[in-house]
Amino acid sequence: MIEMKDVTKVYDNGITAIQDLSVLIEQGEFVYVVGPSGAGKSTFMRLIYREVLPTKGTVEVTDFDVAKIKRKEIPLLRRQVGVVFQDFKLLPTLTVYENIAYAMEVLGKSPRQISSRVKEVLKLVDLEQKENMLPNELSGGEQQRVAIARAIANMPRVLIADEPTGNLDPETSKGIMEILEHINAQGTTVIMATHNSEIVNARKHRVIVIDDGRITRDDEEGGYSFEN
Ligand code: ADP
Repeated sequence: MIEMKDVTKVYDNGITAIQDLSVLIEQGEFVYVVGPSGAGKSTFMRLIYREVLPTKGTVEVTDFDVAKIKRKEIPLLRRQVGVVFQDFKLLPTLTVYENIAYAMEVLGKSPRQISSRVKEVLKLVDLEQKENMLPNELSGGEQQRVAIARAIANMPRVLIADEPTGNLDPETSKGIMEILEHINAQGTTVIMATHNSEIVNARKHRVIVIDDGRITRDDEEGGYSFEN
């Protein structure tokens, strides 16, 4: 469960990116976050994975109040929230296997746990054959699948995807969506910011429109439009 109450985020340069925003996202939902560039979508996502803190209001993520959380609890929150970016952000000198294993090592998992889970997530994204390759030996779609595998390695309750198909062609994007929907069907909340109107219109989920730092529309099964 994610709940924002009257959240405002003002960056140090004085820009208000999110303004008096309240929203409730239940465990297991699939939510698209759409809206014009500069509307505040990335900031909305960053608030959820605690990359930024609210200036005002409260952000609750799986029972944690992100602004009040104790330093030693931060890894517990990070464990609950996996993140995927448009530009993949894989570590270039590590293999596919090592990129995923690393995310588990930092949480102190044992080599045995790591080996079995990495194999499991590589199977889920259909990359078992490529575990020893480096990121630059993979296509964009394959790199994004590795990034997704890494994001879910620690079994987070929430998966945040900021423009995950932004650098990918339509066919590859479709494969990424199928993986995200599969992960969602297993109970993980998926929150995806996107400009991809075809995906939003074709694969129906809740749509939250953010404009000028505010939610201007929130539809159970909406399409891609900034009107109304
Ligand atoms: P979107 O993801 O919808 O394009 P963002 O959340 O990235 O929107 O940005 C919202 C507003 O906040 C924009 O005006 C942007 O310039 C500003 N902004 C984003 N990140 C920062 C930052 N780290 N420091 C200062 N201003 C920022």
